[in-house]
Amino acid sequence: MHLKSAGKFNRLLSLFKPSPPSLPFFPTSFLLFLLVPFNSFVPATATSLRSVVLYMETPARTMWVNGPIIVGAGPAGLSVAACLHTHGVPSVVLERDDCIASLWQRRTYDRLRLHLPKRFCELPGMPFPASYPEYPTKHQFVSYLESYAAAFHVRPRFRQSVASARFDHAAGLWRVQASSSSDTGGDEATYTEYIGRWLVVATGENAERVLPEFAGAGSFKGPVTHVSEYKSGEPYRGSRVLVVGCGNSGMEVCLDLCEHGARPAMVVRDAVHVLPREMLGVATFSVAAFLLRFLPLRLVDRLLVLLAGLFLGNDLPRLGLRRPDSGGPLELKNSRGRTPVLDIGALEKIRAGEIAVVPGVKRFVAGGAEMVDGSFVAADAVVLATGYHSNVPQWLKVRIG
Ligand SMILES: Cc1cc2nc3c(=O)[nH]c(=O)nc-3n(C[C@H](O)[C@H](O)[C@H](O)COP(=O)(O)OP(=O)(O)OC[C@H]3O[C@@H](n4cnc5c(N)ncnc54)[C@H](O)[C@@H]3O)c2cc1C
Repeated sequence: MHLKSAGKFNRLLSLFKPSPPSLPFFPTSFLLFLLVPFNSFVPATATSLRSVVLYMETPARTMWVNGPIIVGAGPAGLSVAACLHTHGVPSVVLERDDCIASLWQRRTYDRLRLHLPKRFCELPGMPFPASYPEYPTKHQFVSYLESYAAAFHVRPRFRQSVASARFDHAAGLWRVQASSSSDTGGDEATYTEYIGRWLVVATGENAERVLPEFAGAGSFKGPVTHVSEYKSGEPYRGSRVLVVGCGNSGMEVCLDLCEHGARPAMVVRDAVHVLPREMLGVATFSVAAFLLRFLPLRLVDRLLVLLAGLFLGNDLPRLGLRRPDSGGPLELKNSRGRTPVLDIGALEKIRAGEIAVVPGVKRFVAGGAEMVDGSFVAADAVVLATGYHSNVPQWLKVRIG
């Protein structure tokens, strides 16, 4: 046998070492029988594939997936699986958490509603219930996603955290390794290798928290919370809270803190585009989408900034909210992923002096923070609304694009 093909054959064989004690139902001959046809006669289109699932004990457990492997059970992963399902294509969805849409269920604050009108957020094949308001609450959104998963028979494999995915050129297959921690929270993680022809990455842009390092961080005596753990302003009642970050989350958390009798100060380090959520009852997002059908993006950006001045007032720089010198709201979203803030009431609180706007943090000290302009902001607690980042570069072992 040719050395290269022998190596390939042995590698493939090694995937299918039987493990009689734990899996008595799959004798070796059965496994090899399925292995050979799959690799030799895979049909050109996925629609004719049928789901074949085998469990084997190699160093890691191995699962053979006939159809795409989808990583992430957020709205994107669910909708891909649903669309495949409607075309008769099986898939396996791997989700690190123990529920669908874990960003929405586990890592968002209670008062959250969709920032965009519902028609822009519905998934393919199923509209939101007519009874839902224009901006559904997060609970309504989650309930919609659950109905969606049920309607399209999407049953993710939970507690499967993908740690590596690479394309095995020799075998022409993706090898996706996922670890799963036990329900009991013990140390015994088990590893499963999923093998299949297609990989769909749907882990989103909000997979991991951004936790910047601040000078003196250890000196601060109060609680420090990332916004992904913030649920409500109730525990902060009467407290001075330094909210680091002025994106949609930072602004909304400040508003929530005000409404719960706390005193927030919002750190605004960079320039930011603030837009009204609606203009004369029409969603700004709808206006932008409409204008983009006829006008170039830069012109639409100019119009949006003009309209924002008209509806929000032109005093934002005086309030400490400077617009970026270059790049409009849509352009910056496209080029750098910087989402414009849609104001839902924080500006009014800033004008009323209920939310203080402060410059960047220089260093934390026991009772607050020294700011880059030399001022001092006293704080009892800190909320880091410093955003998220994707975790794809950590586990996807290929270059994209
Ligand atoms: C506070 C907040 C408000 C928002 N409001 C809106 C809005 O109004 N409208 C809108 O359109 N968007 C909004 N977004 C953006 C949000 O990203 C999208 O709504 C949506 O959740 C993106 O869907 P997704 O499936 O791409 O990613 P996610 O919802 O983030 O889902 C990704 C899934 O992948 C899982 N995962 C991550 N890494 C791994 C791994 N290695 N292995 C296995 N599983 C993994 C995660 O646990 C998660 O369940 C908001 C985001 C935030 C944080």
